Amino acid sequence: MSHLNYETRLPLGQATIDHFMGLPAHPSKCQATYVWIDGTGEQLRAKTRTFNLKPQYLSEYPIWNYDGSSTGQAEGLNSDRYLRPVAVFPDPFLQGHNVLVMCETLDETMKPTATNHRQNCAAIMKKVAEHHPWFGMEQEYLIVDRDEHPLGWPKHGYPAPQGKYYCGVGADRAFGREVVETHYRACLHAGINIFGTNAEVTPGQWEFQIGTCEGIDMGDQLWMARYILHRVAEQFGVCVSLDPKPKVTMGDWNGAGCHTNFSTIEMRRPNGLNAIFEAMKGLERTHSEAMSVYDPNGGRDNLRRLTGRHETSQADKFSWGIANRACSIRIPRQVADETKGYLEDRRPSSNCDPYLVTAMIVKSCLLSD
Ligand code: ADP
Ligand code: MN
Ligand code: MN
Ligand code: MN
Ligand code: MN
Repeated sequence: MSHLNYETRLPLGQATIDHFMGLPAHPSKCQATYVWIDGTGEQLRAKTRTFNLKPQYLSEYPIWNYDGSSTGQAEGLNSDRYLRPVAVFPDPFLQGHNVLVMCETLDETMKPTATNHRQNCAAIMKKVAEHHPWFGMEQEYLIVDRDEHPLGWPKHGYPAPQGKYYCGVGADRAFGREVVETHYRACLHAGINIFGTNAEVTPGQWEFQIGTCEGIDMGDQLWMARYILHRVAEQFGVCVSLDPKPKVTMGDWNGAGCHTNFSTIEMRRPNGLNAIFEAMKGLERTHSEAMSVYDPNGGRDNLRRLTGRHETSQADKFSWGIANRACSIRIPRQVADETKGYLEDRRPSSNCDPYLVTAMIVKSCLLSD
């Protein structure tokens, strides 16, 4: 635990926290934490309220409101925005019958706010439901101190060059495993389909995968998994950076992506490889449009990352290949061997909005002619 920054812990300490959090749960009341995406399209906000009884169904969770002028989502003179619950998860922090509630944000006319891309995604997923689109997203991230200094990096100079950190074991190469393990358990408790996790190429960098998830569920689950990660890190006094290439890593260090694996029922059937090859045409056709929504800044974030080096393709060129990690789209070798399975879109940035990415992939592969 020595790498983690404990200066920020409350002075009263863990025993006090344990005392209060260990008090018996209230027999009937439920704390519901409403979580939403703010005006940046990449940061999350949350606030909590009490219900006398835990609602049984999603539809029983009331629409709530918040001050959009404090989240980059409204002007002060007309500041109320609405939160509409879209998915409910058991709360791994408060436990008991407390819940985390993923919400979409609506303006005063009940229309989606500028960073609410869920409604459009849900409509697209409904259109292609008979193809049973499955996704798995690989969320890479860097653990940093509150001053944005990567965990495990010396305060002056650089760590030993990359090579030993990917899936590394040992105190000189794995920095922040406590955060990773805690997050994994928390996701399992919350009923999130966490597929796995691994240490990444840059020191202090990690990955978790969410999936497979069908349709709109992918976005809901990845956003909540990110929320849980930020909260877990907060408890250790560290932060999580989803920047695809934080400034300090601009040298010879891998950036961070959010590879998105995708399949349809046709691709998963025997000889589904043909459907995978077919999908490449649509993916090529939409390349520049896709690049503009694969990060929250119109493609600019990804320009720092997709340089053709460090296991990436070039931002302005579409390419695909089998087992090739320098392509836009990779067909995993095992998929080619089995002639069925899925494809991996390697372009989405670590800070992408999964609602935008999954909608774009479906549009490209299934709706683009
Ligand atoms: P990589 O080899 O690229 O690092 P990972 O093991 O990190 O791959 O992640 C694999 C991802 O692929 C997981 O999120 C998993 O859910 C997803 N996946 C596996 N099978 C399918 C499928 N048929 N369709 C969509 N996603 C899939
Ligand atoms: Mn108030
Ligand atoms: Mn991976
Ligand atoms: Mn990775
Ligand atoms: Mn990958």
